[in-house]
Amino acid sequence: MEAEEVAAKPPKGRFCTICNQRRAALKRPKTLEQICRECFYAVFEEEIHGVIVDNQLFKPGERVAIGASGGKDSTVLAYVLSELNRRHNYGLDLFLLSVDEGITGYRDDSLETVKRNEIQYGLPLKVVSYKDLYGWTMDEIVKLIGLKNNCTFCGVFRRQALDRGATLLKVDKLVTGHNADDIAETVLLNILRGDIARLSRCTSITTGEDGPIPRCKPFKYTYEKEIVMYAYFKRLDYFSTECIYSPNAYRGFAREFIKDLERIRPRAILDIIKSGEDFRISTSTKMPEQGNCERCGYISSQVMCKPVKWCKACVLLEGLNRGLPKLGIGRSRGANNEQSKNAKEAKGIDSIQSKQCGTLDF
Ligand code: SF4
Repeated sequence: MEAEEVAAKPPKGRFCTICNQRRAALKRPKTLEQICRECFYAVFEEEIHGVIVDNQLFKPGERVAIGASGGKDSTVLAYVLSELNRRHNYGLDLFLLSVDEGITGYRDDSLETVKRNEIQYGLPLKVVSYKDLYGWTMDEIVKLIGLKNNCTFCGVFRRQALDRGATLLKVDKLVTGHNADDIAETVLLNILRGDIARLSRCTSITTGEDGPIPRCKPFKYTYEKEIVMYAYFKRLDYFSTECIYSPNAYRGFAREFIKDLERIRPRAILDIIKSGEDFRISTSTKMPEQGNCERCGYISSQVMCKPVKWCKACVLLEGLNRGLPKLGIGRSRGANNEQSKNAKEAKGIDSIQSKQCGTLDF
């Protein structure tokens, strides 16, 4: 999304509806108010501060890692959180944590942006790579499996890689730049997939409290358009190219649908999140188990695969290492013979469902 696209200009000569002193410079996407840049910065930052305080996201003295991809969401998050930490004396020790998936022409370039952010914001950076953790880069995985299911591997590995990086940094919490649009999309996708267990968790502002490192989303109510505008007006240094392996099909459809709704009614994004929050999950719905993986020993909040209690990352890695890359990928209608053969060779390891992250900026 380009900043010029979202920075709708109000009619010339209008005054800011907040300060009534300066000329309005933009129409705020969330409320359609016509305001000046200074008031936009103030409301944008203070709304995020309000979310942090209302939800008690942090305690003084905590070490907090910011999942940093170099994209607009995590760059704005790093910038705003550093500002708020200073302004409101949160007392946090902030770090940047990046995952190098090994995607040439995408992640190598975006990591250069994060390295500049490290200097610009004075935040220590830790990079963990798939190659070091798993012995595979995404380039190598895509070479083996093609462009189908690549995001399943990448998403599962990234989740664990972030937890491992957070453990190395000895942080108390991990914050991610998931914004209101991402969460509304995920609510819709979980409804479309009938994934009620995930639907019940996807609107939580903090997750994984019973796991190794709790994760928070301070941008839960922040519109993507406003993040783009903020980054643009503040001239923040971010990387805006999409992953070269992004399939984007199903999530892209939900994204377009939400953008259409937003055009008619800006509140639609918040309303979808509210609907997700208010869903009541039947007590008979089977929820994912959590436990220690019998292979890597790592605590996984993801579904454990029975009867061999391995985490998803280990099942997928085993498939790669045994030359059975479809091991652990959910079988769909019309699955080909090779896939069913691979599944039979899994010897007791149940398959897990494919879940793509699309272009989510972790
Ligand atoms: Fe990984 Fe996201 Fe690229 Fe998929 S789109 S390969 S999950 S970075």
